[in-house]
Amino acid sequence: MYRLSLPSRVDKIEFGDHSYYIKRDDLIDRDFSGNKARKFHYYLQSDMPHIKKVVSYGSNQSNAMYSLSVLAKIRGWEFDYYVDHIPSYLIENPQGNYAAAIDNGMNIIEAKVDIELIDSDDTLFIQEGGREESAEYGLRILADEIEEFRVSHQIEALDIFLPSGTGTTALYLQKHSLSRVFTTPCVGDESYLKKQFLMLESDISHHPTILNIEKKYHFGKLYKESYEIWQQLQRETAIEFDLLYDPKGWITLLHHRDIFVNPILYIHQGGLIGNESMLARYMRKYGEYVYPPNMQKLATKLANQ
Ligand SMILES: *Cc1c(COP(=O)(O)O)cnc(C)c1O
Repeated sequence: MYRLSLPSRVDKIEFGDHSYYIKRDDLIDRDFSGNKARKFHYYLQSDMPHIKKVVSYGSNQSNAMYSLSVLAKIRGWEFDYYVDHIPSYLIENPQGNYAAAIDNGMNIIEAKVDIELIDSDDTLFIQEGGREESAEYGLRILADEIEEFRVSHQIEALDIFLPSGTGTTALYLQKHSLSRVFTTPCVGDESYLKKQFLMLESDISHHPTILNIEKKYHFGKLYKESYEIWQQLQRETAIEFDLLYDPKGWITLLHHRDIFVNPILYIHQGGLIGNESMLARYMRKYGEYVYPPNMQKLATKLANQ
């Protein structure tokens, strides 16, 4: 059976005037790592002899799409992935999660997914972004790892922070954690995130604490301050964070820094393969921008495309 190297490591970093613990879920495995590895952990471990194919849908650069392509490869399943549209630019210049998933054998299909047609016994259907109750299995393991870390380091209480998409990760983490979980919505607004929590758990005492900032950030849009905080993190901590969720996460965390009384554990949820396409877009938008030293090679490659 394929084994992940768990528990993931915890690093201590200094950023600005504060220190943070970083849960390095980006380092779980060479291929199957980060948030989606936790959420799909159940499908990696469980015995499902009847399954021959996995089917999902969503955007053409999604982290879930890439991670499902890895899962399918490990388990010897076919993988059909439905998208609304594949831009010709991407077909001519495959990059990021799209290129990596195709390398893993994903069949990408430009059409609306028809659940009725694919609902057969040998097919596993996964909701967009992995919003699935089966995610609870892997997130309970993550909560246990954090609790073991807290006890073994004699930390009286921890505050956990992570940015949310569907909110599945933050919700199940809070449900199984003794620590308080804080999050911020990156897809949709606070009321969207609350609805997502309620779909998975009706008892609101299990819901994470939502923090927000005044400025509206639209998912996948480029913001100069997002790029800047991402670069600053890389310079000061030597850790590459993701460009879709982590900038909003860190901007929100720094904004509310004063409300935290306990040491903060920030969860690095991976997603670094997606940085390639995001960086390409930042390059096109802001032109010759200063890349941190370890990104120079990638910058040159993107500039020559
Ligand atoms: C999917 C993803 C998230 C969001 O997780 P949700 O469970 O949907 O809230 C955050 N960060 C990264 C890197 C992801 O891939």
